[in-house]
Amino acid sequence: MDIKSLSLDELKTEVVKLGEKPYRAKQLYEWMHVKLARSYGEMTNLPKDLREKLSEDYEYISLKEVTVQTSGLDGTKKYLFELADGNLVESVWMQYHHGNSVCISSQVGCRMGCRFCASTLDGLERNLTPSEMLDQIYAISRSTGERVSNVVVMGTGEPLDNYDNLLRFIHMVTDENGLNISQRNITVSTCGIVEYMKRLADQKLQITLALSLHGSTQEKRRELMPVANRYDISEVIDACRYYFDQTGRRVTFEYSLVGGVNDTDEDAENLCRLIDGLNCHVNLIPVNPIKERDYVGSERKDVLRFQKKLEKRHINATIRREMGRDIDGACGQLRRRHGIGSE
Ligand code: SAH
Repeated sequence: MDIKSLSLDELKTEVVKLGEKPYRAKQLYEWMHVKLARSYGEMTNLPKDLREKLSEDYEYISLKEVTVQTSGLDGTKKYLFELADGNLVESVWMQYHHGNSVCISSQVGCRMGCRFCASTLDGLERNLTPSEMLDQIYAISRSTGERVSNVVVMGTGEPLDNYDNLLRFIHMVTDENGLNISQRNITVSTCGIVEYMKRLADQKLQITLALSLHGSTQEKRRELMPVANRYDISEVIDACRYYFDQTGRRVTFEYSLVGGVNDTDEDAENLCRLIDGLNCHVNLIPVNPIKERDYVGSERKDVLRFQKKLEKRHINATIRREMGRDIDGACGQLRRRHGIGSE
């Protein structure tokens, strides 16, 4: 059993099963989720025989830092972690005026197949457990010695394709007995799996939902994102509206601009029509080229022109600051460079 994925209540049940007093669960939980211990050995206020029993029966997930690259431009750090089974995942640390953000992966690989994305080139290997998602944050927090205030689930993987683990992760990372990060400081980004967007909406959490749109018509979107074959763009937008209605949270649209593909005036006009009247925010970013594909990022002037078009129609649009330009491969490239892409 993976002890770091258990809630405090579940932990109490386990501890009692071992013949211990329930308050030991609270101590254990605190070691794992507040003090960010890397092993049972560090839990010095727990009796030695309890620690021994735990290490026999309960796996303790603690990610191993393989590499860390630091940007000379803005201090952004890109981490590569090794999981217990040898798989690798990447996570990013970013510092903003409003606090420190960590971008985590939710799966090893991805099966969504977005054409411009490096994370999906070899398909899905497996889902990450709640503890493996948490420990990306814990390991980075330990390594930087700083508090993490924001979490974005925007690394490798499709979080809504790993829904149950994602939900448990969200509950644990926002738990007042753990890191206690505010729900409002958590963003989950999805390529648009409609039924899970609705299920998430029904949870009525205060997290931000980001929808990777990247195209303003069904045809354009389908060119870039195979998931669009499963859900029509109108269903996806309806699910965003539903998310807002259920939660009161403004939805973010991610729009990666691909030169000559989705960055024309017509694209911008279609986008305005598509999201007209929706309480939302658009994040624009020139696509980060990957060597396996021919796509190029839109030129600066085209990005600005696109943004202006949206703003004229009173749609809130920001150009996402590209952090860690000098250390960044596009999403998933770091992991590939380490041979996991079997090159
Ligand atoms: N699967 C989720 C979250 C992971 S991807 C999703 O699709 O939203 C995080 C964001 O990065 C998504 O908006 C994704 O479309 C975008 N992305 C992936 N590769 C990119 C690239 N090469 N350049 C720019 N954005 C990219």
